[in-house]
Amino acid sequence: MAPSLPVTEVVRPGLWSIAVPFPDNPLGYTLVYLIESDRGPVLVDAGWDDDESWDALVDGFRAAGTNVAECYGVLVTHVHPDHHGLSGRVREASDAWVAMHERDAVTIQHLSSAMEQDGKRDRHPTQTSPDFTDELLAVLVDAGASETELAAAPAPTVRRRARQFRPLVAPDRTVDDGEHVDVPGWDITAVWTPGHTPGHLCFHVPEHRILLSGDHVLPTITPHISISRRDRAGDPLGDFLDSLQKVACLDTDEVLPAHRHRFGDLGQRVTEITRHHLDHLADIEAILADGPASLWQIAARLRWNRPWDQYPLGLRRSAVNETAAHLRYLARRDRAVRFKGVRPFTFGLPEGHLPER
Ligand SMILES: [Zn+2]
Ligand SMILES: [Zn+2]
Repeated sequence: MAPSLPVTEVVRPGLWSIAVPFPDNPLGYTLVYLIESDRGPVLVDAGWDDDESWDALVDGFRAAGTNVAECYGVLVTHVHPDHHGLSGRVREASDAWVAMHERDAVTIQHLSSAMEQDGKRDRHPTQTSPDFTDELLAVLVDAGASETELAAAPAPTVRRRARQFRPLVAPDRTVDDGEHVDVPGWDITAVWTPGHTPGHLCFHVPEHRILLSGDHVLPTITPHISISRRDRAGDPLGDFLDSLQKVACLDTDEVLPAHRHRFGDLGQRVTEITRHHLDHLADIEAILADGPASLWQIAARLRWNRPWDQYPLGLRRSAVNETAAHLRYLARRDRAVRFKGVRPFTFGLPEGHLPER
């Protein structure tokens, strides 16, 4: 069940937290932060693109004593639609600039060209996307799911995912690592934290010893780290673990995440999340110690937060993509090998290798 919506509140003088509903999702809401400035309020993230969410955002501006039309800018932590979804609508209502890291801006270009393709075939690409189902199945088949398993699996959760293909707006500005962002009267530094997405950004406010962490560091949950079919070269898990160390060094008393609630001990949370992934890596090595296995077989044997046979196809795809990110990490470090040219994707331990456990 989705958690209840927190009220709009002051976190530090001139900095507000507004919960924007994330409908049909167990996360329940995105925490958007509004920072007052002489040029007008600046948002960190805008929330999911939906009327209910928009109304909550508008109410949040009002509770903070301002209104959307006054908005000066939107700093986007990352391109996911529960963060960047409403940026375009805020820009239309206010002329605010929208800014994000270049690497996530590239994702929008890919999505919009995919949508153009979609639009040529289907006049309602935001409804049910047949391409999504095709791609979903392709991922599962390449991973090694059998026909019987695919037929027996619970129905895919296509509708909600397909909605993520609503057009996301391209940014007006890009933000680099270490940049002092344009929030007049504030000293706020962008910290590039690739992993959850290639262009994920956190924002550090040293004067208040706070970190606006987006989805990079969350309390009680870990962000999804996965390999997409387009990504043949990246090491998102390696990037993510490095990005965790990067923020752990920052002078911080409190973390303002985009989901759940604020929390205090950043160093401890970084340690816990790192441990979670190191355990996952060790589990994979232990599975491979039994002999070569397909990506699907490995994913099915790992510990997830629900039993594998209760996972709908969409979640199995996420689990497979996350497992692929862990295998990429191991392969980069000569702790696993992928058998070249073999379908489904199959992995084993390098010769003479003993798992680190
Ligand atoms: Zn995200
Ligand atoms: Zn999110």
